[in-house]
Amino acid sequence: MLRPFFAICVLLLAGLLSGCQAPAGAQAANATTPPAPTTPAAATTEVPTLPPPQPVTATPSPTSTPSPTATATGTATITPSPSPTATPIGPCTERVPTDDLLTLVTRTYPLSRNYTPGDLVAILPYFPMGVTLGYPTEVRQVMLQPLITIVEAMQSDGLAPFIISGYRSYSAQAIARQKWESKYPAWVDQISAIPGTSEHQLGTTVDFGSPELPDIVGEPDIQFHTYFYMTREGIWLEEHAHEYGFTLSYPRDTLELTGFYYEPWHYRYVGVEMATMLKEQGITLTQYLLETQPIPCIPTPEP
Ligand SMILES: [Zn+2]
Repeated sequence: MLRPFFAICVLLLAGLLSGCQAPAGAQAANATTPPAPTTPAAATTEVPTLPPPQPVTATPSPTSTPSPTATATGTATITPSPSPTATPIGPCTERVPTDDLLTLVTRTYPLSRNYTPGDLVAILPYFPMGVTLGYPTEVRQVMLQPLITIVEAMQSDGLAPFIISGYRSYSAQAIARQKWESKYPAWVDQISAIPGTSEHQLGTTVDFGSPELPDIVGEPDIQFHTYFYMTREGIWLEEHAHEYGFTLSYPRDTLELTGFYYEPWHYRYVGVEMATMLKEQGITLTQYLLETQPIPCIPTPEP
C-alpha cells in the first residue's frame, strides 16, 4: 500500500499531475528509488481537448443581504444608513475565510496558514476500508453526508470508488512542498502545490480513485493519473458528480485560470445548486467566482 506514492511521483514528474499529493500516511514511503523525470509534454498530448467553456450567463449571488428591519422608536430622528463602502481586504497570506462552501482558492488567492476548518471529522468510521484504503482522511462535517451519498450511489451502479485524500493542513502541505522542492527543485511546481493554494485546505475537497486505473495505465500501484477520466469511476463522476453537489475543480485546459493541470480525480463539494449551475454553464467554480465576486484578498507575489 505504500508503493502507490512512488507511482504517483512518477506521473507527477511526467507532468501529468500538478497539485496532488499523496495522503500523509503514504508520503514517506518508497522514495528510495525516485523515478527519472521525463518531459511533461510527452503524455499530455494524448489527452483530448474539450471545447472551450461557455461564457457565464447566470450570475446568481450565493447569498443575499437581508434588509434591516425598521423599528419604531417614537422619535423623529433619522438614522443614516451605512454607506455601501467596500469591505476592506487584507493580504491573502492573512486570509482566514468563514467556513463558506464557495471560498476562492488559487495560486493567486491563497489561504492563510492560520485557516483550519472548524468542523473537520475523520471519515474512516463512515466508510468501509475498501473505500478509504485505510488513509486517515478528514473532511468538513458539512460534506460528510454528501460524500457518503455519492459513494453509495456509485457503488449502487456497480462501481468501486476510493477516497484517497481529503483535508490537508497548511503545515502538511508545507512539509510536502519542502520535501519535493529539495528533491526535484525544477519540478516542484508540478509536483506539489504551494502551501495555502490547495483546495484541500478547505476540507471540502476529495481525491477519488479507481481500481481500474492500474490496468489502464499499466502501472500496478498507480493511484493518480490523468487516465482516471477513462475509468468507470471517472466517467461516472464527470457525468453525475454535480447531482450530489460536487464539482471538478481542474478540468482540462484551465491551467492559466486555476494554476493546476488537469486533475480528473479532484472534486470539491459546493452544494447541488452551485454544482449544477457550473455543470450547465461548463465552467469551474474558480471562473465563476473570479467573474462574479469581488477579489477576496490582496494577492501575494509568487515566490
Ligand atoms: Zn486533489
